[in-house]
Amino acid sequence: MTNKPIPKEPENVSCDVCLTEIPESVAMSSEGDEYTQHFCGIACYDKWREKDGSSADAENDEEK
Ligand SMILES: [Zn+2]
Repeated sequence: MTNKPIPKEPENVSCDVCLTEIPESVAMSSEGDEYTQHFCGIACYDKWREKDGSSADAENDEEK
């Protein structure tokens, strides 16, 4: 029997915002205090940051 080494599959991660699966190598990541979050792109990264409330004091009133 051949016992080939199994090629490591690229690890996929899920975008924290839209849940798209992406290879970790292309994901944007943000290392938080507890764990690393991944994003498929800058758009989702921005969304997450807004949702995170880090700019809560900025445009709170504009939300309808
Ligand atoms: Zn995304």
